[in-house]
Amino acid sequence: MPRLLKSHWVTGAATVAAVLVVACGHDAARPSASVDASSSNATPVAAPTAVPAAELAPPAAQTGGFDGARAYDQVAKLVAFGPRPPASDAIRATQKYIHTQLQGFGCAVDEDDFTAQTPIGPMAMKNIVARIPGTGQGIILLLTHYDTKRVDNFVGAEDGGSSTGVMLEMARVLCGGPKQPNAVWIAFLDGEETQATFEWSDTDSVYGSRELAARLAVSGDIKRVRAVILADMVGQKDPHFPRESDSTKWLKDLVWSTAARLGYKDVFVSQDEEVSDDHLPFLHRGVAAVDIIDLDDYTNQGNWHTASDTLDKISPRSLAITGHVILESVNALQAKFR
Ligand SMILES: [Zn+2]
Repeated sequence: MPRLLKSHWVTGAATVAAVLVVACGHDAARPSASVDASSSNATPVAAPTAVPAAELAPPAAQTGGFDGARAYDQVAKLVAFGPRPPASDAIRATQKYIHTQLQGFGCAVDEDDFTAQTPIGPMAMKNIVARIPGTGQGIILLLTHYDTKRVDNFVGAEDGGSSTGVMLEMARVLCGGPKQPNAVWIAFLDGEETQATFEWSDTDSVYGSRELAARLAVSGDIKRVRAVILADMVGQKDPHFPRESDSTKWLKDLVWSTAARLGYKDVFVSQDEEVSDDHLPFLHRGVAAVDIIDLDDYTNQGNWHTASDTLDKISPRSLAITGHVILESVNALQAKFR
């Protein structure tokens, strides 16, 4: 659950700043958070419906080898586990699935089991990291969260599913590829969503990301991280990714100029917007990081953190665009830090 802080629209020379505070969890109609970590809240999952032709992914050869159809199939698999809140049976099944997929792609896989100290007590969580070695010391770190918010019947096709589908497909492409100057680590993070209450707070959020950043700081590897690219909510139809305000400027410029070069200027838009998300623990430790997210559109459609965040909202074409841009941005980073 990223938190949207405020939005700025830039129109020509004039800057119109509109402050838009989304009150996460103040809606009394929303179900309250459950404290029962053992509840897998299994929900019957409807069979996937046919994807409209306009939402189909182009052939992988047109998106740098990244296959949007495969990424979509991954999202479908994740959604089929049902709601996947931290420490649930469903998230444990999801973790096994992610690990098995990564091994199948030939990735080296690390798991970090940790105990998150949440306001309702300790909670078992797990980060899973695919490591593609480089020829040099640098690391390019890609992030997604795979947990879902503890909301009844919430399967998180977009919020948690879409970016995880993209990163699983990214792992398939990169783990089988030739060695590059920098290592690429793809981290599948637990505990992005708030556990104890519906509301976001700095101390009750991004548990997996904080854990990973802290571990890398202790090991010293954080000094090797050249850039962090976070994807979150990247599969909806007609997405618009704003330039997230806290994200590092040179890295935003690199990703957004890559998108423009590939013809996706209408998707990676020039509007600024501030969102709290898994990139923050890395920014706080001085690491360049960028968040690719479309929270606004999904919220306006009434799908964010609701039971309507379902597979039919996901577009293989959008996953392909996101994957293409991240893949080419990784290539640009490899060239920059060779
Ligand atoms: Zn969320």
